[in-house]
Amino acid sequence: VEGLKGSLRQYAPMPALVADRPILIQLLKDPTNSGLLPYVNEQLRLTALSLDASDVYIMDMTGLTIAASNYREETTFIGRNFTYRPYFTQARDGGRGRFFAVGTTSGTRGYFFAAPILDGTRIIGVIAFKIKPDRFEEAWGGGTHDIVVTDLNAVVFMSNRTEWLLRSTQPLSSAARDWIETTRQYPIDMISPLSWQQTALQDEFSLVKAATREGPTSEYVVTSSRIYDAGWDVTVLAPTGPARTQAFIAATLLVLLLLLAGLAVAVVLQRRARLAERLEAQRATQGLLERRVEERTASLRIEIEERRAAEARLRQTQAELVQAGKLAALGQMSAALSHEINQPLAAIKSYADNAATYLDRDRTAEARGNIETISSMVDRVAAIAGHLRNFARRPKEYAGPVELLPIINAAIDLMEPRLRATGTSVVYVPPHKPLWVTGGQVRLQQVIVNLLSNAVDAMEGQPAPRIKVQLHTGPTTRLTVRDHGPGLAQETLPQVFDPFFTTKPPGKGLGLGLSISYNMVRDFGGRLHAENHPEGGAVFTLELAASPPLAQDTAAE
Ligand code: ADP
Repeated sequence: VEGLKGSLRQYAPMPALVADRPILIQLLKDPTNSGLLPYVNEQLRLTALSLDASDVYIMDMTGLTIAASNYREETTFIGRNFTYRPYFTQARDGGRGRFFAVGTTSGTRGYFFAAPILDGTRIIGVIAFKIKPDRFEEAWGGGTHDIVVTDLNAVVFMSNRTEWLLRSTQPLSSAARDWIETTRQYPIDMISPLSWQQTALQDEFSLVKAATREGPTSEYVVTSSRIYDAGWDVTVLAPTGPARTQAFIAATLLVLLLLLAGLAVAVVLQRRARLAERLEAQRATQGLLERRVEERTASLRIEIEERRAAEARLRQTQAELVQAGKLAALGQMSAALSHEINQPLAAIKSYADNAATYLDRDRTAEARGNIETISSMVDRVAAIAGHLRNFARRPKEYAGPVELLPIINAAIDLMEPRLRATGTSVVYVPPHKPLWVTGGQVRLQQVIVNLLSNAVDAMEGQPAPRIKVQLHTGPTTRLTVRDHGPGLAQETLPQVFDPFFTTKPPGKGLGLGLSISYNMVRDFGGRLHAENHPEGGAVFTLELAASPPLAQDTAAE
């Protein structure tokens, strides 16, 4: 539109400018001047050439063309009368003429501009320019859009599509038909209706279905703009085909994208759901585990408490049993012990009585001898009493380096009355240097007394009962007590250390001695085991960890 407007604006003043030339006025005043005419014709030709106009020509007041730029051509305008053309009448009446038409002489389309030629203030003729529209049309071709310019009667007079030229997009009214005929604008027979259906879209756009060379109908989106001073409508047509294809592709892509997005969303949602499920399951399992751990911890705590209480009870019972065992042993020994004490007491009595008699007779030497004997006998009784006190005392928990030899001696001493009563001999050769072991003094003594006492029991009624006590040193210190009794029956061997296991008649044995001894030895890291000697009799072995000696003063303490 801007291009067209620019061209119109450029050509509009030209006729008026050229009309000022005196030579034209001269010719119009003297049209028969045959000397002037060729010169004017040539002038007009050069003007047309330089101004890029198709034709430039001059008419007198009757509309007769007297000079023209195309004077050389066969279809020259000279001699032709254009009184019927509106541009002529407009200029003749003093205005500026403009008109679009198909030339009646040339048969080519053109836009005509015209201006009056004045002699002073009097109009004496008209000068007209014809411009061909082809140059615009050429510029419009080749693009993706088509361009159509229609006049007020909806006749297409410019377009890059030649098949639409001089066809009307609407049926011609009779007034329009009359006007075209009078002005001879177009050869009226040439104008045929064009199949052109226009429906409004939004804004300034419409949809047009028009017949084309390619087919009965093609579809376009069109927009129009009007050039008011020329009375033209410029319409731009964009074929909908590519746009539709593009829209279809875009829609398909959009649908695909939406599908993909939907799919992605679905996948994400599903993942989330699964994750949430898994987390929930994990939480549940964890909760369950935690509860179980708590329950287990609680029950373990209770168990530990119970076990601790049971241990304490056991220790208590054990201590009581030890005591009971000791008392039982004491009971066994009491008969022999009372004899052992009564006998020296009776002797002491007679020695004392005799001593008194010696003193009465002043036999002091004999009396002294009696008193010394009494003193040694009292020592003997005191020793027995001391051992008994030690034996009966509840042991302290101490278990550490102790010297073994004095303990063995004390145990044998304690057993002495019973040994003598039963005529049992003990074969024992003590080593020359002290032996330090880990243990408790009183408890070790108690274990040895137990073993000796069992050996004596086993050989009851035998003619010459004999016990052999032996010491073996090494990484551990082993004390063996062997008798010559019947030995241990094979089936009772595993049971001898069980509490309350006894083969002795009621009142004689409690079945606690070995069991208690076993536990005490185990308490200070030692071992007690029983076997039969290949040559008969039982052998009990007490195994004790050797220990470094204590400092002198501590040992004494
Ligand atoms: P008690 O002497 O009160 O029966 P112990 O625990 O000291 O209890 O001994 C358990 C049992 O082991 C004895 O009854 C006896 O059968 C057996 N026993 C112990 N020492 C010997 C031994 N030197 N020879 C044979 N049997 C023995």
